Amino acid sequence: MKRLLLFDVDGTLIETRGAGRRALRAAMLEVLGEAGMIEGHEFRGKTDPAIVRELLRGAGWDDRRIDAEMPAVWGPYLRELEAALATSELRPSPCPGVRVLLERLSENDRYALGLLTGNVEEGAERKLRAAGLAGRFAIGAFGSDSERRADLPRLAARRASRHLGREFHVEDAIVIGDTPEDVRCARACGSRAVAVATGGYDVEALRTYRPDVVLDDLSDTEAVLAALEAVASAVAS
Ligand SMILES: [Mg+2]
Repeated sequence: MKRLLLFDVDGTLIETRGAGRRALRAAMLEVLGEAGMIEGHEFRGKTDPAIVRELLRGAGWDDRRIDAEMPAVWGPYLRELEAALATSELRPSPCPGVRVLLERLSENDRYALGLLTGNVEEGAERKLRAAGLAGRFAIGAFGSDSERRADLPRLAARRASRHLGREFHVEDAIVIGDTPEDVRCARACGSRAVAVATGGYDVEALRTYRPDVVLDDLSDTEAVLAALEAVASAVAS
């Protein structure tokens, strides 16, 4: 059976250097005149719209006003993101081992490669392009699809079924990410979870959320492939 692998972006595929935060701050100030306490705000594991909502609630906005005004943020955000990603100090790079791992996985017809990320779709694409990882993923589910990360595995499986010419069940998907939220969204949908400690949460911290596997990073390609194989076989049994 072909397995759907759903990779998170920030902290999992790429090392981010603050381009997203800078772009969101500039866009929120431009469009809304308010970016709340964005400098110290925790972004990891959250969808872009959830981050904006938290920041605006913190600044005293009610949800009706947030819902009305948030859509206008994304155009300027993408423009600012493109500019930030073009600067040498903010350009993201692939996490260790990612480029080789993706090559190996794309040669293996047991796997289909997808994205599962809180980034808005175009933001994810721009970040991956800046890191030299464009065009590696057949499908994706994004923060622009739902503010709730837990909605995304099911959506990704539906999209994969529609676009890849065979049926994928969410229970067979393997979510790969760097935060407790990645593990939680997998569990919420009955998917498998592989946690990787490249986004600031260490192995011990991630283990407390009970992913199927925790990895230091993705640099040991053979070990990662073996771990994915083990998780995939556990699904089959
Ligand atoms: Mg992440």
